[in-house]
Amino acid sequence: MPLNLILMGPPGAGKGTQASRLAACLGLPAISTGDMLREAVRTGTPVGLRAKAIMERGDLVNDEVIIEIVRDRLDKNDVAAGFILDGFPRTVAQARALDQLMIGRDPLVVVDIAVPEEELVRRLSSRLVCEACGLNAEAGASLESRCQRCGGHMKQRADDNDHVVLERLKVYHQSTQPLVDYYRSRPTFRAVDGAQAPDQVALDIAAAVEAAGSVGANR
Ligand code: AMP
Repeated sequence: MPLNLILMGPPGAGKGTQASRLAACLGLPAISTGDMLREAVRTGTPVGLRAKAIMERGDLVNDEVIIEIVRDRLDKNDVAAGFILDGFPRTVAQARALDQLMIGRDPLVVVDIAVPEEELVRRLSSRLVCEACGLNAEAGASLESRCQRCGGHMKQRADDNDHVVLERLKVYHQSTQPLVDYYRSRPTFRAVDGAQAPDQVALDIAAAVEAAGSVGANR
């Protein structure tokens, strides 16, 4: 049965890291709206030109724009066996639009990765990503380290500086946390403790997906 998974959680919860691991393991596309927007900014598309300043100050890109991007992406053939969404939905309006897009498809499995706020601030302000491919660096990497995937140089993300991190966490609490309540009552919702080591979080997500998937299959 296809797996249509949303990894939810605040910035710094490990959604990107866990989405890439799971995608590699299950052979499903990891769809990160943040990565898609950063690519649009890098290549200077009209969406990228409009999104740049919004992303730099830690705000959310307009719902209509982002829903359109995801609608197009979910129309591609490679999502037939499922997908892993990272960073979408981020508002109740986006979640409602996604529910519409899912009509006639398998149910969404939603895993919320919970991490205490102090830990998020610590992680985000020390996070490094590859300048070339955007991969998150392993713990302990420095600006001198090279990307494990492509050998590129490391840098800090423009929106990971202290001031913007606090704004992103505020935006998360205001706009995205209400989504946990939107999904919580569904039988395919699970929460995992994201403050653990990444390997343990990965195991917990795999167990959550399996449990939620078997509930979803019986609906
Ligand atoms: P991320 O890499 O997921 O932390 O996303 C980086 C930035 O891209 C966010 O701070 C937002 O400005 C923007 N963004 C990513 N996904 C969304 C979304 N679903 N809705 C609105 N803005 C988004």
